[in-house]
This record gives sequence, structure tokens and C-alpha cells, in this order.
Amino acid sequence: MTGTASNEAQEQVRVRFAPSPTGYLHIGGARTAIYNWLFARKHGGTFILRIEDTDVERSSAGSIQGILEGLQWLGLDWDAGPYFQSDHTEAHREAAERLVATGHAYRCFCTKEELEARREAARQAKGSLHYDRTCRGLTAEEVAERQARGIPSVVRFRVPAGPGSVRFRDAVYGPLERNYEDIEDFVILRSNGSPLYLLSNAVDDIRDEITHVIRGQDGLANTPRQILIYEALGAKLPVFAHMPLTLDLAKRKISKRTHGEVVSVQFYRAHGFLPWALVNFLVLLGWHTSDDREIFSRKELTEAFSLSGISRANSVFNYRPGDPKFFTDPKAISINAHYLRSMPVEELAGHVKPELLAAGLWDPEYENRRRQWFLHTLELVRGRLHTLKDFVGPARAYFSDEFPMEEKALQKNLLRHPELAAWLPQLGVRLAALSSWTVETTEETVRAFAEELDVKAGVIINGIRAAVTGQVAGPGLFDCLVVIGRDRVSARLGKVPELYG
Ligand code: GLU
Repeated sequence: MTGTASNEAQEQVRVRFAPSPTGYLHIGGARTAIYNWLFARKHGGTFILRIEDTDVERSSAGSIQGILEGLQWLGLDWDAGPYFQSDHTEAHREAAERLVATGHAYRCFCTKEELEARREAARQAKGSLHYDRTCRGLTAEEVAERQARGIPSVVRFRVPAGPGSVRFRDAVYGPLERNYEDIEDFVILRSNGSPLYLLSNAVDDIRDEITHVIRGQDGLANTPRQILIYEALGAKLPVFAHMPLTLDLAKRKISKRTHGEVVSVQFYRAHGFLPWALVNFLVLLGWHTSDDREIFSRKELTEAFSLSGISRANSVFNYRPGDPKFFTDPKAISINAHYLRSMPVEELAGHVKPELLAAGLWDPEYENRRRQWFLHTLELVRGRLHTLKDFVGPARAYFSDEFPMEEKALQKNLLRHPELAAWLPQLGVRLAALSSWTVETTEETVRAFAEELDVKAGVIINGIRAAVTGQVAGPGLFDCLVVIGRDRVSARLGKVPELYG
């Protein structure tokens, strides 16, 4: 068994998030970052950010920016970095040379054409498609002679010959093994001197003294070869912990190509998610506690998190495209709603302010004279909202005279009762004359009005709700009226006839 370090930490933990900046911050990448960050925080360790930008063609500055902003928004603060892999190419090259010098790697002069011809022959003969190790036995003189003639060469890793295997214990998947004969003498340095990703990644992890490599299951294919590199360089192995994949309901890997923006962190920010709610949702995609708790404060999560809670089974991103009510996984929405209604209202106010500002509905008095009103309003409406956007959507009527009218509210609460077109303005006048504006006085006035007309109070109440808030349902109507205010209420009731067209 090669891996000796224990799964959970007994040493100074050093972990890293190592994204390749080839696109936006994906929720799968964010989950990797979250697991590493939590593990570091739990053990008082170091969380390193390393940008793996060696694929120059696919990497972009915009993507790096997006990743940094995404992590910051999520609150995943890193302790070191960002380091850039491309700054360390020389060290990667030197490591390759060291491996050649110690006999763990060798120069290979086979041309692309030769390799292709041999592979084709092997294909016909149904033999192994691995490199046939032609150059593995070249003597130092033969190598020197070819280099002197200027023949280009790559560097290949010399996989141990004969029976045997790379064995290691993954903290999630348990003991794993790969036979040497199933591993090709893989290239670690190209003929132009540029290192291959597999080498750079391992060399950087060694340099950064990474103790736990926590990454996606797709990294598992690299692990045996990386362990060979570690061993050949005489470095101590980290613990490897590979996280399960996240699949959609049709068992497809989640990706931008298949799912679009819903898999980017930015999408959640743009849709009014609280950053911690997204962290809380993402952590559950592949990790759980024995009692299956779902809501964790930052402190609770840091305490509860452990590698042993990561499941081997793929997690499911329960997203049904085309269902407008659930623009993402319903669990993500319900977790966000949970935080909206349970966080300290002062803190919520800090999140709602930018939404109101962006919608042109912010009143500076919400921080002065109208502070209490503002906080009270948030308290009143938040119980039914799902995202921060809802404060300027379904709850817009509290902050603006221009608000959307739900189709159902219009049809069912108003148009179905044509008499309301005359009644509600009359009621508006009566309410405007109230000397005190409270839940009790408004309720009394409305009920007395219904009684005089001999109609069910419900008809009037539902009509007022639609006219004043645009909604079919909501908090207690008289609480709403008090918050929205006498002038606005009576003005909105006065305009009801316009809705009847
Ligand atoms: N740059 C790799 C990726 O984005 C990270 C692999 C690793 O964590 O070792 O997939």
C-alpha cells in the first residue's frame, strides 16, 4: 500500500482548489472549492488557490476574473495564491530532467508518423495501443548522438516493468489499484520543452506541500500516474479524495453544453441567491451527515464536514428544464428561501438594498427615518419569497406604485366580480378618511363596508389584495395595508376601474 497518510488530518492540512480557467465558475468546480475550503477551515489548515492556466489556448483572463469573483462572492476565502501554474514551467521542466537523470524517465525520438503507423499495426493485430517502448532501451551514447544531430524528442515516464501495480487508498472510494502493464510510458515533456499537465499538476502539489488532494472523480484517471511521479521524485504522497459526479435526472453529467447557465455560479448570483444558501446546497451534492441534516450555519458546517461523509454514489442535480417555477433544483430554491426567512432581518436588509438600488426603488430614508418601516416590511413579506429578486418582483408593490399584477389575481379576485370596480374606489375614500391607520381600524372599516353591501368579506378582501399588492396570496391583508400606507392604498383602490378596461 503506497498511501500511508490517514484520511482525516493529523498533520498541518494544506489543500488547494486548482481550476483550469477555461470558462466560468461551474457549480461542480464551486463544490470542489467548498469541500477543500471546509476541510482547511475545519483543521485550521491552509487553503491555496492555484490557477492551472497551462493550456494557453483555452485559458482566458476573463475566466480567471470570473473564478476569483465567484469564490469571493461565495465567501470562500483563500489563504495563499492565486498561484499561476504557468509561472512555474521551468520547475516542471527541471522535474522532468531530474526524472531523466535518475532513470525514471527517458527521451523518446519516435516521430508522430512512426507512432501512428505502429498504432495502426497494433490496431489491426488487436494488440496493445500503448507506446511500444522503442526508445526505452536507448543508451546514453545513442541519446547524445541523436540530440547532437538535432533530432527532436519528448520525455516519457518509465513505468516500472513487469508485474506489480500502483496501489493507494482513496479517502472516498477506498483501496484502488492499477497494474503497471495497464499504464503507458506517458509523455511528461513535449518536444518543444513544454510540460504536460499531469506532470505540472503533481509537481505543483509537491511544491505547495499539499496534504490532501480533494477533487472530482474525473481526476481519478490521473492518480496512478501522478503517484508514480510522486514516488519517482521522492515526495510524500498526499491523501487523495475523489468526489462523486453530479448528474441530472437523465443521468447526464452536468455541463454548460447540456444545461446552459444554470450550472454557473453567476446564474445563482443573478437570480437572487444568498451566497451561503448556494454553499449549503452545493455541499449536499455528494456529502451528508449521518442524520441527513440539510441546513448548516458556517460554523456548524465547518464542524460537521469530514471526508468520510462524502458519498461514492453520484449526486443528483434535480433540474427540470422548462418548468418556470423551478428555474433550478427545487431544493436549492427552498434552501435559499429558508435563509431569506430566518436570517437576521438587519442582515437581510443588506442583501435587499442592492436589489432595490438596481431596480431604482431604493430610498435613502430606508437607512434613516424609514429604517423601522423598511425592516418591518422585510419581516412581513420575506416568509413567502424565494430569492432576493422576489423583493422587486412579487413584493414590488411594497416599494413602488408600479408593480406586476398576477394574472390569477386579476381574473379571480377582480374581474370575476364586476361590482368591485365601483366598490373598491368607494372603500378607498372611506379608508383615506381614517384618523388612525392600524390593523384594527382598517379591518373594522373593510368588514363594516362588506356588511353594508351584504357581500362576503372575503370577496372584498381578496379584491383589495389584488388591487393593492398584485398578488392572490400573501401575508395578512391588514398587515399589508398598514405597511403600504393609507395614501398608497386609497390611490390604488381608486384606480381599480382602469383594470376593468
Ligand atoms: N485543473 C484541474 C481541473 O480543473 C484540477 C485537477 C486537480 O484538482 O488535480 O479539472
